[in-house]
Amino acid sequence: MGTREAAESEGAAELAVWEFAGLLLTYWCNARCAFCYVNCGPERGGEMRVETALALWRSLDELAAAHGKTMRIHLSGGEPFHDWVRLVSIVRAARAAGLTPVDKVETNAFWATDDGVTRSRLELLDALGVRRLVVSTDVFHQEFVPPERVRRCVEIGRAVFGSGRVIVRWWDFLQNPVEAGRLDSAERARAFRAALARHKDRLAGRAAEQLAPLLECRPAEAFAGQNCVKEVLQSQHVHVDPYAHVFPGTCAGIILGRAGERTVADIWQELRAHWREHAVVAAVAAGGSYELLQRAKALGYEERPGGYASKCHLCTHVRRFLFERGVWPEFIGPGECYATEL
Ligand code: SF4
Ligand code: SF4
Repeated sequence: MGTREAAESEGAAELAVWEFAGLLLTYWCNARCAFCYVNCGPERGGEMRVETALALWRSLDELAAAHGKTMRIHLSGGEPFHDWVRLVSIVRAARAAGLTPVDKVETNAFWATDDGVTRSRLELLDALGVRRLVVSTDVFHQEFVPPERVRRCVEIGRAVFGSGRVIVRWWDFLQNPVEAGRLDSAERARAFRAALARHKDRLAGRAAEQLAPLLECRPAEAFAGQNCVKEVLQSQHVHVDPYAHVFPGTCAGIILGRAGERTVADIWQELRAHWREHAVVAAVAAGGSYELLQRAKALGYEERPGGYASKCHLCTHVRRFLFERGVWPEFIGPGECYATEL
């Protein structure tokens, strides 16, 4: 998109109604995938309380209904199966409260170590009205989760839910698993590059740190003239973390608002009226991460000499700088999204 088109698109931009919402039940994950755009891992914490999940869910339902839409909720993380009792409690409580059924539960299947446990858990989710199961597997996940667990989860999932209700991301990796843990660093880098070429991933969170250096990087000016109106204002998709921070669907760590005293519907209304006053949204809507860079330079940010692999790599690098200096804490956080590796 050229500079003129970008400016026109930003000028006319309006916040779309949120219709797809992922509740990130925790930042904990058994894995530490190099491509994780949320930056989850075994050393991360945060557990969404049952009451928090219900309040968020109710408000999301009300927001969609007020605009003649139906909210679609998915449960994710981190790994939502980390605390099985909590996951079931949330699904059961939402059902008892008459909230919209869970559209999807996402997992990497690390917990599927045994046929009996796998079957009983999936049968319970099915009985509680969960519509679809999404199982993630690729070269990045396969460093941490053996393919046989994924196969078990998928096969039993298909038997329980029916094959049309089990989604595997991605089949090609399940058919031809790559045990990246056994590769030397050059082979691992090659396997990761090949995976990125097959399935495009956003280079945010940990991916900005670990995958971007494997790709061709260009100076920041290469990303001038773009904007992120589609991603931050028009995607209809948000994620809400365990602390009730609302993020654009693909941009974990950009806080659109925090629910609690305010409902999600309040946050949406306020953002719709005042998004031009949100320091990060206003910048990326006007000129993408290149515009955010210009604003960060005024605060002391220096460009990465090696350049950036994508607009999201640039955005993440700039936001990490701002987070570390405590700039715009109401818009950039929480720490889990910006933690560097231990
Ligand atoms: S990508 Fe998924 S499985 Fe991997 S670390 Fe992130 S949350 Fe965990
Ligand atoms: S550049 Fe930033 S705001 Fe734009 S899509 Fe990427 S992470 Fe989101």
